[in-house]
Amino acid sequence: AAAPGPVDPATSRELMDRARAVTPGGVNSPVRAFHAVGGTPRFIERASGARLTDVDGNEYVDLIGSWGPMLLGHAHPEVVAAATAAAGRGTSYGTPTRTEVELAEEIVARTPVERVRLVSSGTEATMSAVRLARGFTGRELVVKFAGCYHGHLDALLASAGSGLATFGVPGTPGVPEAATAATIVLPYNDRAAVEKVFAERGDEIACLVTEASPGNMGVVPPAPGFNGFLAETCRRHGALFLSDEVMTGFRVSRSGQWGLDGAVEGWAPDLTTFGKVMGGGFPAAAFGGRADVMAVLSPDGPVYQAGTLSGNPVATAAGLTTLRLADASVYARLDEVASTVSAAAHDALASAGVPHLVQHDSNMFSVFFTDRDEVVDFDGASGQDISAYAAFFHAMLDRGVHLPPSAFECWFVSAAHTDADVQQVLDALPAAAQAAAAA
Ligand code: PMP
Repeated sequence: AAAPGPVDPATSRELMDRARAVTPGGVNSPVRAFHAVGGTPRFIERASGARLTDVDGNEYVDLIGSWGPMLLGHAHPEVVAAATAAAGRGTSYGTPTRTEVELAEEIVARTPVERVRLVSSGTEATMSAVRLARGFTGRELVVKFAGCYHGHLDALLASAGSGLATFGVPGTPGVPEAATAATIVLPYNDRAAVEKVFAERGDEIACLVTEASPGNMGVVPPAPGFNGFLAETCRRHGALFLSDEVMTGFRVSRSGQWGLDGAVEGWAPDLTTFGKVMGGGFPAAAFGGRADVMAVLSPDGPVYQAGTLSGNPVATAAGLTTLRLADASVYARLDEVASTVSAAAHDALASAGVPHLVQHDSNMFSVFFTDRDEVVDFDGASGQDISAYAAFFHAMLDRGVHLPPSAFECWFVSAAHTDADVQQVLDALPAAAQAAAAA
C-alpha cells in the first residue's frame, strides 16, 4: 500500500484545469469543487474498501462514501460481480425485469412502504412523491423545513427568513416564484411552528416533507417524538407525511430512520423516498408508501411519472446485492467505526481547545465547528467557523484522510473500514485539530 502523506496533486490540478474549460466549475455536482475549503479536488482513479486512490497515486481513507451510498465500501466483490454479470446480460431493455421485482420486494420487506416505484436519483424520487401527494390530496401547499435538502426540484429549493414560518422564496435564480409560492418553510424541530401552520392552512396542505433525520445541515437529529408528531399532525389534517430517507434509508438501521422511531412508536409515513444505499453506487432511487396513495400513480391512476432508465438492470442488481449483504453484522460495524471516529474527533478538538460539537443519529455523525452546545435547526447549524474547518480538512487530507469538503456535511463510514483504516484517521486527528486551533 502507498504510504500516507500525499505527493503534490499535480495531475488532479491539471485535470481540474481541463475540467473547468468544459464543465461549469469543473465538476458535475457543486460540493465536489472544494469551494468551501479551497485547494484542488482530488480526481479519483480507483477505490477499494474504505480507500480512495487519486490520479497522482495518493491513497486516502474515505469518509465521504460517495455521500452515502457506499455502505459496504468501494468495489465490494459481490456487488461488483452482480453488476458485471448484469451488464453482460444487457444494460437496459425498457421492459420489466425480475431484479426490479426482487429489489422492490426487499424494500417493502425492510420498510413501511406497501408499494414502491423505482427511479434514478433522490431528486427524482422526492419530485415524484410531491407530485403524487398533490395529485392524491387535490391540494397544493407543501411544508418543508429550513436546512433540509431533498434534491434540486424547484418546489423544494426554497429558503426562508430565519426562525419564522415563511412562504418560500426561490433559493436560486432559475426557480420561478410560482414554483415556491406553494411551499411553506418552517424551522426544524419546532412543534409550535408546525401546529400554527396546520391550524391556519391545514386543509390546503398536500404534504409535509422532512428529512427523516436531517444530514444536509450537518447531523441534526429529530427531537424524541418529533417525527411521530409530524405524522400525527398530518393525519389529523388529511395531509400526507412524506419522509425523505434518501440519506438515512438502509443506513441508520436496516430500514432507515423509521426503524429507530416509527417502528418502535407504531406509526408509518404515508410516503417515503429512498436513494443512495439502495443503488449500491449506481443511479437508483425510489419512492413508495401507502397502497391507496401509490394506486393513483400512472398507469393505474392519473398522476403521471415515468423513466427510460428507471429500474435499470445493472443498478438494481448492485442495489439488491447491497441490501441483501447489509445484515446485522454490517450495522454493528458501522456503529463501531462511527463511535470510535467521532469520539476521537471530539477528543482531539477538545485537547486542542477548538470549539466544536459532535452530533449523531445512529452511525451518521458530523462535527460542527461552533461554540453552541446543541444544534436543533438550520439557524443553529449556520454560524460555524468555516476557516477552522478548512484548516482541519486540509490537515486531514495531507495525512491521507478524505473528509467531506464542507463543514455542513455528515461523515460517512462504511462496514469496510478496517481497524487499520480507523487507526489512520485517529493518528491524523491531533495534528488536524492543532491546525484548526491555529486557523
Ligand atoms: N434527499 C436527501 C435527504 C438527500 O440527502 C439527497 C442527496 N444528498 C437527495 C434527496 C437528492 O438525491 P440525489 O442527489 O440522488 O438527487
